[in-house]
Amino acid sequence: MTETSNINNFVAKIVEEDIANGKVEKVITRFPPEPNGYLHVGHAKSICLNFGLAEQFNGECNLRFDDTNPEKESQEYINAIQEDVKWLGFQWAGDIRYSSDYFDTLYDYAVELIKAGKAYVCSLTAEEAEEYKGDFNREGKNSPYRERSVEENLDMFARMKAGEFKDGEHALRAKIDMTSGNMNLRDPIMYRIRHVHHHQTGDKWCIYPTYDFTHGQSDAIEHITHSVCTLEFEDHRPLYDWYIDNLPVPAKPTQYEFGRLNLNYTVTSKRKLKKLVDEQVVTGWDDPRMPTISGMRRRGFTPSSIRNFCDMIGVSRSDGVVDIAMLEHALRSDLNTNAPRAMAVINPLKVVITNLPDDHFEEIVAPAHPDLDLGERTLPFTKEILIDQADFKEEYSKKFKKKFCPGKRIRLRSGYVLQADDYIKNDAGEVVQVNASLVTTELGVDPEDGDKPKGVVHWVSASHGVEAELRLYSRLLTHEAPDRGDKDFMEYINPESLAVTTAIVEPGLAQAAPETVFQFEREGYYVADRRDHSVDKPVFNLTIGLREDKSLTQG
Ligand code: ATP
Ligand code: MG
Repeated sequence: MTETSNINNFVAKIVEEDIANGKVEKVITRFPPEPNGYLHVGHAKSICLNFGLAEQFNGECNLRFDDTNPEKESQEYINAIQEDVKWLGFQWAGDIRYSSDYFDTLYDYAVELIKAGKAYVCSLTAEEAEEYKGDFNREGKNSPYRERSVEENLDMFARMKAGEFKDGEHALRAKIDMTSGNMNLRDPIMYRIRHVHHHQTGDKWCIYPTYDFTHGQSDAIEHITHSVCTLEFEDHRPLYDWYIDNLPVPAKPTQYEFGRLNLNYTVTSKRKLKKLVDEQVVTGWDDPRMPTISGMRRRGFTPSSIRNFCDMIGVSRSDGVVDIAMLEHALRSDLNTNAPRAMAVINPLKVVITNLPDDHFEEIVAPAHPDLDLGERTLPFTKEILIDQADFKEEYSKKFKKKFCPGKRIRLRSGYVLQADDYIKNDAGEVVQVNASLVTTELGVDPEDGDKPKGVVHWVSASHGVEAELRLYSRLLTHEAPDRGDKDFMEYINPESLAVTTAIVEPGLAQAAPETVFQFEREGYYVADRRDHSVDKPVFNLTIGLREDKSLTQG
């Protein structure tokens, strides 16, 4: 994978030109999540773009919570979002910002519009307003309240704020154009009455501005130079511009839209992800099967693998669906380079080395990584060791030339050469023990008789290996496009997306710091679980297989 730079994307080109022309001195962008759920992989694209632009052009990027729907928002989400952004490797400028910081200013702006005859209090019911609005084929009709006097509007709006009315009884609307082809301009709602507590402003307000009346002005207040957002807001841009043009805002941001990230086999909508959590399909927002940033983190994704993926997919003006194989490629390529190696035997078969004394104990020093200087680890080597059942065959054949077979040799990874002599079966006819002899007693040398083993197997000491729980994850959703069209993604849940098993692992792994990802030699990449892994009970999550393996990753 080549490291591409964000400079290649169209937004970066615009920024570069704006700086060259002197239109912009210092670039200020923002990432503006609504705290109504945890961030997902789609948000990572937006984070990398917004923070990336600021980094590239020596500017700043704000983190602003667009918190205009208090019923759906919470402090838990606010905390999780901050943690995710930091974990991805980005730092926002100054303090956290909230749209609710600007509620007073927004209220004053609304009053300005009323005074200018550009906003009015409408008392239609929600159903009536819907009917008056029309649709794509039918022009809207003016509300009978549209011509209320400025005085009456000011009075009504003040009383809305004072809590004199019930939820939904009145709304403040912008007076724009009920016949516009753009539905967003058909006298959009600016304020609605909601008698609810707000996580930041408490019970100060019982009217809340709509997202559309908040977003653009918040950008202006923060002097955002490039308001970057996803394509679905393209149709809202004329409305944002209308507010900006009609209000005494301190700056004029320009909005640029880019295509959302959609991934096959994945849902990227907080609402849908919340459903998976609420209905306990997964254990929580950070379940390793979730495409949330915290779920990916717990699965063993590294920040750089996610950032590299965002670089790989680029930024364009159109929506598309990215193959999840690209995300997996970015992950594998990062782990292949950086993950320390370790050994874990998932289906153990005992090998007794008959020419070693019963109490033989030796510590083999092995590198933690073949290429990087990641230090060393020690592997206890004893008379009884474990290898994987699949690495032993009762009868030799050419197909099994890399396997351990009676009369044949094998090299232990980072260890010695063994020869299989005979084996023992249980009543069920399964091989339960292989008796072998040590052929070499020096590391890294070939047998003197020239009969070199063809295969290398992973192993652990039977007496010193420790048991670990392995959580084997695969795709949560079995359909390539689980939520497109009229499909209900809940119908495509893979009932086998988690299998729990055990392995005997090299003893040092019990001490692994949570979140360390290892390449378990010949098995796959596994991460020490962030929450449950401990010295007493090692727990590893399958991050991803070594190679693209449909049976592993597809449901
Ligand atoms: P969701 O539908 O999951 O709730 P949202 O767009 O409502 O997503 P916000 O919290 O409003 O979520 O998003 C914050 C920022 O992240 C916005 O600028 C939004 O455009 C961007 N974003 C959200 N989803 C994606 C995505 N799939 N790809 C790229 N950017 C995204
Ligand atoms: Mg949203």
